This record gives sequence, structure tokens and C-alpha cells, in this order.
Amino acid sequence: ASINCSLERLAFKIVILLLLVLFRDLVKTAKEIASTSSRLTKVKLMASLIRSLEPETAAKASLILTGKVFPPSDPRELNVSWSTLWRVINSLVSTSDQKRDVSGVDVGEIVRDLLSKYRVRRQATLFEEPLTVDEVYSMLEAIASAEGSGSKSKKEMFLRSLFSRVSPDEAWLLANAIVGETRLGLSEGLLIDSIAKAYNMNRNFVEKAVMILGDPYEMIRLSGRVEELKPMIFRPLKPMLAQTASSIEEAIEEFGTCAFEYKLDGVRVQVHKSGDNVKLFSRRLSEITVSIPDIVNQVKEGVRARSAILEGEIIAEDSMGRPRPFQVLMRRFRRSNIDPKMIEQIPLKLYLFDLILLDDESFLDKPYIERRRKLEEIIEEPVKLVPMILSNSIEEAEEFLAKALRDGHEGLMAKRTNSPYTPGVRGRNWLKIKRAMTLDLVIVAAERGYGRRHRWYSDYYLAARDPHTNEYLVVGKTFKGLTDDEFEWMTNKLKSLAIEESSKFIRVRPEIVVEVAFNEIQRSPKYESGLALRFARIVKIREDKVPEEADTIDRVRELYEGQVKHLETAYRK
Ligand code: ATP
Repeated sequence: ASINCSLERLAFKIVILLLLVLFRDLVKTAKEIASTSSRLTKVKLMASLIRSLEPETAAKASLILTGKVFPPSDPRELNVSWSTLWRVINSLVSTSDQKRDVSGVDVGEIVRDLLSKYRVRRQATLFEEPLTVDEVYSMLEAIASAEGSGSKSKKEMFLRSLFSRVSPDEAWLLANAIVGETRLGLSEGLLIDSIAKAYNMNRNFVEKAVMILGDPYEMIRLSGRVEELKPMIFRPLKPMLAQTASSIEEAIEEFGTCAFEYKLDGVRVQVHKSGDNVKLFSRRLSEITVSIPDIVNQVKEGVRARSAILEGEIIAEDSMGRPRPFQVLMRRFRRSNIDPKMIEQIPLKLYLFDLILLDDESFLDKPYIERRRKLEEIIEEPVKLVPMILSNSIEEAEEFLAKALRDGHEGLMAKRTNSPYTPGVRGRNWLKIKRAMTLDLVIVAAERGYGRRHRWYSDYYLAARDPHTNEYLVVGKTFKGLTDDEFEWMTNKLKSLAIEESSKFIRVRPEIVVEVAFNEIQRSPKYESGLALRFARIVKIREDKVPEEADTIDRVRELYEGQVKHLETAYRK
């Protein structure tokens, strides 16, 4: 009987092991993906991984492989900096190895090298079995859940226990996932291809579904089983985006009669309402409901619909109804603990500009003008509509633009009246017309300032992404534009992203996006990019943008070329 019992237990264990995918198998696939530059092979490997795993596990595996750990709509964050991870790894192998500068290097490789060079102090553990993907994921969830006082040492404890149980190769993938960088070349487009291949689905359909679901991981979790391409209440979809028009004339030439709306300089918000339940999401699809209870109340009062998904812009207005500076507005969004005084001091206003779903009916494919008319019907005070005119007259639109600028707004949006709402697409159905020349750039390094700015890293290296190599190329440097509060915030943020730090200089993971105004772009040997911005100044910290959305080096070159052409014509005249 006892032999039977042991056999049964063994069989049970084998079945469990077959069902639970080992983390080391995921690492094997990751290495294969990393070692090929062929997109097709990467897609094949990802597709077979997705197919072979339980949907939940496949989603977790994809998140780890893409260095995300949590999908965009999930508010959890790991909050583990490279220096914390470095401390943990060092304590495990007790080396005096000082290699902390990881600029241009695969972080995972440094960790792997260290763990294979030295003997790791194992933590006493009950389980000697190899880790499964689900177990690793649960440990990452535990790290994220450590909050409040003592959270730092708790996080370090979890990290130590995790890294003491993995092989050097496993540590390579883990370390990269934790610092948010995997270098496997798994872009969202590639994941979409892989999902289509895994489930034998039409690529366009998968792409559309991913835009509506907000991310590819949810599609994997649902094993591609999405019957209807319809927005869902409380599941944020990717926002429709605009391209740029250099003038009103260009927009009218392209669209004919079109809608011109004020372009408000605020924070974009997606409003989801079901009865009295309201949730608000940012442009990056994170939930921001708790930080803006006043907007929740306005929606309850001013949106006459059983259920709806709407889009708009939040601004802060002064007593004259003029928009207050963006920095003031951001004070309402940066607090994790909401200060009721702040709500009184900086009241917010919601201006809506689009309707996506109404009482269970999708408005995605309806033309702009129909969506706008319906929106006008269901909105009342205190919620407002973004001012709009329909026109094909350059003079009339110029007047409207002048009024928008006089009222303190950023410019106009021109919208094609018969266009559908296309989530996640930056197309030419919406064109933004701004007066100022700005670029969204990424901070890659900073220097400590002089005089009273000595307390902060206040001089920033600004970089544009090279879409061909995914590197960030410096195009300028600035210490202008931030308030003291913002210098303080920025210094803390930079420290959490540091990959090399000395008393004067800090190099960081490219994560912080800033909107930069400048007067001119010049040729310059100073930077590798060959270009430099003149009189650059930060106009906004774009917490709502991820680095992949920053402007590319191609865009900077395009602006430079445009400038040269402009000068040539001016001379000829
Ligand atoms: P920008 O940096 O110019 O704000 P962006 O990259 O955030 O642009 P775009 O799609 O290029 O996004 O430009 C549209 C942005 O302008 C929206 O994200 C939104 O926040 C803002 N906006 C202000 N007013 C409007 C409007 N009437 N219609 C659409 N978007 C508007």
C-alpha cells in the first residue's frame, strides 16, 4: 500500500509539473528570442510559447519577457531601482565588485556574470524544486505589494529570497524584467503578430482588438477569444492620436469643411460611467479616479447616460475662467494622498470632446459629427464641451485660433467630420495646430546645478529616440523651465532610475519624457546626433507619455530640414 501511495504521489507530481511551466523553460525561449535578429523567428518563438501555455501563465510570461511585469492598466508598480537590485545581488554573493555603471550594457548580463562567478548564499527554503513561471510572478507581485514604512527592506528581503533560488541564466531574465528592460526586441507590433499566429487570427483584427482592450496581454489572457470589437466599460482603450498640421490652410486643404476645436493644454482623461459608478483613466491608461474626486462628481452630475465612455481634457481654471499654468494643474495629479485643501485651491474642470460608448452602443465607427452631436445631447453643467466650429474658411478658422490663443489655450485641433474613432492610431483624421515649436524628448542624464540649484540634478541631457536602433541620442541640454518643486521631484525620480551616479552627474534609464520648447535646431558636433537645440527649455513634464511615444531623431531631422528650407525661401525672397 505504501508503494502504491508513493507512486500515486509521484504521478501527481509529474502531472503538476507538466501543467506548471518552469521558469527555466521560459528563460530558454527568452535566450532564443534574444539570439536572433530575425523578426519572423521571434514571432514564431513567441507564438509557440503563447500557444503552449495556459492563457493566464502565457500573459504573465509575455509581461516578464517584455520587461513590463504589470500591464498598463494595472496600477501596481515594482519600484525597484537598479541600485537596490545591485545591493541585493552583492549581498548574496558578497563581492567587492564595484561595477555599477550599466550604461549601454545589458543589466541582466551583469547580474548573470556575477552570479556565475561567485557562489550564491542560498536561503534556507522548504522548496527545492525549480521555480515555475507562476511562482516567480507571485514573488514579483509580493515585491510590488510592499508599501509604506519599511517597504524598502521588505522589497529587498523578497528580492533576496527570489535571487537566491534562481540560476544565473534565470537571474538574467529576472533582473532585466525588474528594471524594465529586456532587449529581446519584443515590440507591441511583434506581440500582435505573435498573437495572430498563435491563434490563427487575422492580424488587423488582433491589432484592433489590442487597441480596444488597451494592451496585448489581455488578448493573450483571453486566448484571443474576442468576438466583438466593442469597448468595455471600465477597461480603458488606447486613445486616438493626432498628427501635426503646420497651418489652418493645410488642414482645410486636406479635409475641406472640418471641425475646429480648441486644443486645451491639460490632462487627457477617459471617463467610464456605469450608473453612479465612475472611473477615470489617464492617457497611459492608468486609473486616476482617486486623485480627482471633484471630476467624478462632475461626471455624476453632468453626464445624462446610464452608461458611457467619454473622452476629454481636464484643466484648472482661475476665477476669470482662464486656464492656469500646466505646473499648477499637475499639482493635483502628483499627490498620492489627496489633500482636501488642494481640491479647494486648485479646482478642476472637465471639457469633453468625444463619445466612444453610450448605453451599451459602440460609437467607434460612427462619424465624428454624429459622435459630437450625441455628446452635445447628453452633457450638461458642470461638465463642458470643448468649443468647436465647423468651417471651410481660412479667415474664420484663423479668428477662432486667435481667440483660442487669447483665451490661454494651446491652439486648435482640426478633425475630419466623417472620421471614425480609431483607438491607438496616430492618423491624419485629427490634426493639431500649435503656434509654438516643441518636441517631446527623453532625459538620459543630468548634472547637479550651481548656487542654490546645487541641491538638485537640474541640468538635463535631452534625447530623441532612434527608431532603427532604439537608442536615445542627445540633442540638447537645459536647466530652464522647472519650478523648485519640480526640480525636487525630478531629482528623486532620476535617483530611482539611476544606472550610474556620482556627486555631480547621474545617468538614468530613459523613462522621463519632457516637452521642450526651443528657438532653432542647429548642426553641432557636440552630440553624436549631429544636431543641437538652441535655447531649449522644458515646458512640461509629460508623465502621461512613455518614452516610446517621445519624438524620434527622424522628426528632429525633419524639423531641421524644414527650417533650412524655410530659410532658403526667405533668402530667395
Ligand atoms: P501633445 O503633446 O500635442 O499634447 P499628444 O502626443 O499628447 O500631443 P496628440 O494626439 O498628438 O497627443 O495630440 C492631441 C492631444 O491634445 C490629446 O492627447 C489631448 O490630450 C489634447 N487635446 C486638447 N484638446 C483636444 C481636443 N479638442 N481634441 C483632442 N485632443 C485634445
